[in-house]
Amino acid sequence: MGSVRIENLHKSFNGIAALEDVSLDIREGEFFALLGPSGCGKTTTMRCVAGFESPTSGKIFIGDRDVSNVPANQRNCGMVFQSYALFPHLNVFENVAYSLQVRRFYQGGFGTKLAVLGNMLNRKLGRVDKETEKKVRDALDFVELGHLADRLPGQLSGGQQQRVALARALIMEPAVLLMDEPLSNLDKKLRNSMRVTIRRIQQKVGITTIFVTHDQEEAMSMADRVAVMQGGKLVQVDTPTALYSNPGSSFVADFVGSSNIFKGKVKGTEASGTVIQLEGGQLLTSAFSAKREDVEVIIRPESIRLAAGEPVDAGDKSIEGTITMSTYLGPSIRYDVQVGNMQIEVDKTFEAGTPLLPPGTKVYLSIDPHLVVIL
Ligand code: ADP
Ligand code: MG
Repeated sequence: MGSVRIENLHKSFNGIAALEDVSLDIREGEFFALLGPSGCGKTTTMRCVAGFESPTSGKIFIGDRDVSNVPANQRNCGMVFQSYALFPHLNVFENVAYSLQVRRFYQGGFGTKLAVLGNMLNRKLGRVDKETEKKVRDALDFVELGHLADRLPGQLSGGQQQRVALARALIMEPAVLLMDEPLSNLDKKLRNSMRVTIRRIQQKVGITTIFVTHDQEEAMSMADRVAVMQGGKLVQVDTPTALYSNPGSSFVADFVGSSNIFKGKVKGTEASGTVIQLEGGQLLTSAFSAKREDVEVIIRPESIRLAAGEPVDAGDKSIEGTITMSTYLGPSIRYDVQVGNMQIEVDKTFEAGTPLLPPGTKVYLSIDPHLVVIL
């Protein structure tokens, strides 16, 4: 019941298209990321699902239910934003209890309504019933904030505030959880640990989640599948590993990780694959077949073997170049290698005790044909 289907979604603002023909099938329980640069339409897509934006055309289903014309508060979506949007004057417990209390107001009798309303007018939450109390305690324990229930949001770190926001969304038991750049306000270290926390919570609850981000590492490390967007359109929807190893365009290749993209011409086919001549004259073999003569090839920096001194391959397919820059990146070393008039990036695993090869070193590069992707 928690699947999400988006059918031919179009959205224009004042005649300018923000979304063009977006169709997606998000499975029940899936962690699904919308990834793309700023302004590509991620938030608009999310807001259309939530019901805060009405599509210019197209349909949205949550489970089997067509919610295209259902108001936001009846779509059963939980939301978490970049700005945590907590009530600053309510403590953690009260922030999480708030929406349940609102629901109690709508469902309760006259006495309950009056009591809840009176408290809200005084910007207080007031007394909650036993059931709400238990639900809130459980939700806070779930995000490991049980010990901070009495704190005000201003007394919490960014990561803790975001976990309050998550507890507040989950306590309503939504069919779908929508998260819009929830980690963007956090520093890098916290962001990395929150990725794991969110993913773990999502798996424990098993809730269908749409996660918006412009950070490829975030999307690739958290999501079951990623939709890459560009200029209001979907360009590719795939698992992180498939996006990385088999990008459908140079935009995707570049966006989901650093890569070498070269232009070349198909020269022929051999037993080992398609032979491609790069613009600089060098020959490469790809295990993939080409659909036309003029092609672009993508080679990930870590899939190139590099050796100083002598060719790695006995054959003629090893490419000669010169290191122009060596950068220590922690677990790996990035070498910028000049080959003819091309610059190639090569990543090698760092081995303790082995010095970096200095700029000026002559090197030989060789590439497994299975790792040369033709676009
Ligand atoms: P993203 O979340 O990927 O950064 P958005 O969905 O926020 O992108 O925006 C997509 C495009 O739609 C942008 O060009 C943006 O300027 C435009 N847009 C979004 N919301 C509105 C709005 N309420 N009014 C006018 N234009 C908007
Ligand atoms: Mg946005």
